[in-house]
Amino acid sequence: MDFNLKKYMIMKAKFLVYAVILLSGLFSACTKTQKEEIKPQNVILLIGDGMGVNQIFAGITANKGKLNMEKCQYIGFQKTQSADNYITDSAAGGTALSTGKKTNNRYVGVDTAGNILTTILQYAEKKNLATGLVSTSAVTHATPASFIAHQKNRNDYDAIAADFLKTDVDVVIGGGRKSFNSREDGRNLLKELEKNDYQIFDHIPEADDQISSKFYAFTHDEHNPPINKGRKDMLPAATKVAIEHLSKTENGFFLMVEGSQIDWGGHDNDTDYVISEVIDFDAAVGQAIQFAENNTNTLVIVTADHETGGFTLLNGDMKNGSVEGAFSTGGHTGVMVPVFAYGPGAKEFIGIYENTEIFNKIRSLLEL
Ligand code: MG
Ligand code: ZN
Repeated sequence: MDFNLKKYMIMKAKFLVYAVILLSGLFSACTKTQKEEIKPQNVILLIGDGMGVNQIFAGITANKGKLNMEKCQYIGFQKTQSADNYITDSAAGGTALSTGKKTNNRYVGVDTAGNILTTILQYAEKKNLATGLVSTSAVTHATPASFIAHQKNRNDYDAIAADFLKTDVDVVIGGGRKSFNSREDGRNLLKELEKNDYQIFDHIPEADDQISSKFYAFTHDEHNPPINKGRKDMLPAATKVAIEHLSKTENGFFLMVEGSQIDWGGHDNDTDYVISEVIDFDAAVGQAIQFAENNTNTLVIVTADHETGGFTLLNGDMKNGSVEGAFSTGGHTGVMVPVFAYGPGAKEFIGIYENTEIFNKIRSLLEL
């Protein structure tokens, strides 16, 4: 009896050990597949220029309690200071996001000594990912320029436009045609682009435009007008067609989309301008998230380069969407700005970190 009980106890102990080994094996297999799934193939980075937390909440209030960016599961904050100033401008802010290096205000895609920095878009090109840029401003303006150009003066639009020709970017949509075909040096960059097999559109191409491969779509000679002065759905429509086109490649893609004029509403201390631009930008975010919902290898990141206007909310009404805003400056401020992420790798964006980390995280996730 004693002997049998002992034997039974030993068998039971052995069974427990086997069960533990088996279960832990299953468990590690699960965590392994989760780890393998964490790498995205596509990244859509949406930048709301000048968009701090208060601009976003004004948008939420005006939109009666809801924005698409709230669908992002993981939230962080980034510190925006530039190499030479507590208050960054969009050139240094954009360059930190695009290259992972802090530089001086007014510098685009170069370090503090003026050396060329490889941007995340250019790293993506090198790995044969499809790439794209979309903005409501001229595409030569500081934010989009930071992803493709290398100049010490953000206002040298002719030089910035010429830098576009040195890349193989697949999709460019925005304003700024003037710097391509009406230049001091007499070059016609649109003709040069056509020679390089680009299609050039003066509108956002639709299905019956038969987009062949690479294209530029200039929706304005200079900046597009504000949304409440007739820009219509340019930004979300451009975002949609850029995603549709870039997603045809099997290698994955990198797309930067900028809501350029949230910043300009801040500089103008114009609450309605800020809010209408936030809501329009959020419609572009909605396009990106909708794609990511159906294509689970896609990471969407929504952030800003800095806050503009020292904007705050003194009153509001979620039911009728009214907002009473106030500003503390006509310039930029030094506050942290939020980072929202959706999709594989989104978890990497929680926490508080320098703006340069966005580049490092994207580069590591895309293995560029
Ligand atoms: Mg900008
Ligand atoms: Zn600004």
